[in-house]
Amino acid sequence: MRTIDDFNFKEKKVLIRVDFNVPLEKGRVTDTTRIKSAVPTILKIIKDGGACILMSHLGRPNGFEDQFSLIQIKSELDKILKIETKFCTDCVGPMAEEMSQQLLMGEVLLLENLRFYSEETKGDEDFSKKLSQHASCYVNDAFGTAHRAHASTTVVAKYFENKFFGKLLEKEVLALKKVMSNGASPILAVLGGSKISSKIPIIENIIDKVDDIIIGGGMSFTFIKALGGKIGSSIHEDSMTEKALSILEFAEQKNTKIHLPVDVVCAKEFKEGAESKIFAIDSISDEYEGLDSGPKSLEKFKKIIMSSKTILWNGPVGVFELESFSKGTQEIGTAIAESTKSGAFSLVGGGDSVAAVKKFKLENEVSYVSTGGGAMLESLEGKILPGIGALKK
Ligand code: AMP
Repeated sequence: MRTIDDFNFKEKKVLIRVDFNVPLEKGRVTDTTRIKSAVPTILKIIKDGGACILMSHLGRPNGFEDQFSLIQIKSELDKILKIETKFCTDCVGPMAEEMSQQLLMGEVLLLENLRFYSEETKGDEDFSKKLSQHASCYVNDAFGTAHRAHASTTVVAKYFENKFFGKLLEKEVLALKKVMSNGASPILAVLGGSKISSKIPIIENIIDKVDDIIIGGGMSFTFIKALGGKIGSSIHEDSMTEKALSILEFAEQKNTKIHLPVDVVCAKEFKEGAESKIFAIDSISDEYEGLDSGPKSLEKFKKIIMSSKTILWNGPVGVFELESFSKGTQEIGTAIAESTKSGAFSLVGGGDSVAAVKKFKLENEVSYVSTGGGAMLESLEGKILPGIGALKK
């Protein structure tokens, strides 16, 4: 992995793929996390005496659309960088070329939304080549789009001899490595969420890399039913019965312990404030569905979390969006935070568990919260992300 710390960017113009796909409300940025995440890379290049040309997508525009213009994030970027950045209303073409040529060392130029051109997502060669002409070095710091073989994330890299992992991309890759290949044992994966079908590639990929897997949330019911339990009207996938059994068998062969819930908080209705009742996980009455981890399950899970040295968390262990069924997910998050305090390394990755740690204000209590939903999931599935592969060629 060639990172930006391996190079001195003095007198170099550097094209940086950042992820400024931030949430906006009435033209104002409502969450600046992604902008702040790009700062260490930009500042290192400026400090070396180089110049930065930033490119990103924002939303899913259909051609040039003002509501998706990156001009909306410029003032926030200026505030965070404490620099007056330059902005170009195009990302390729004569005006953009002129502005990148005129850019002085120490300056930052933000290009307009890459996805105003459909060539970006198509990974078009000509468009990639035009982008490459802005600079002599390329840095990818957009983990959130590293699983896409787009022009700016992947194809453009081949036009550069000097191409590097940005600091954010490097952090993501190192965090993943800690879980998948060089983490301290015992290594634990806590998996939850609604569907087992979407998590199967992850389970299959990590089984021989971890010591323990906790399976909670909706996806546990397919396992419980496959083992002969009564799951009432809980969410499950009958088409996955054989798969669930083969996963349990594969885990046994690999000496990986799979831990399933022993009890569950159930309700007759999937709604806030619904009257709830606790059942043993394999004896749920027909009219009830399991919506949150039960107290005995949480005790069991917490013990495993506290004795683990490396922890991956992907997916909530209950319907955490509803206050009435959020306790289990909150307690799991808190236990992971406590284990981290005692020295464990913890990585939270993949959409809903990231939303959960944010909701329970635990982002700063775990070792690393991934910035890339789909990219993190594909990495956990063992895929080499095109954006990362392109930097290594
Ligand atoms: P996924 O996208 O598969 O990771 O699933 C995330 C969703 O799973 C969240 O919206 C949770 O509300 C939901 N979930 C977790 N546990 C359950 C459950 N027992 N029943 C129904 N949905 C659940």
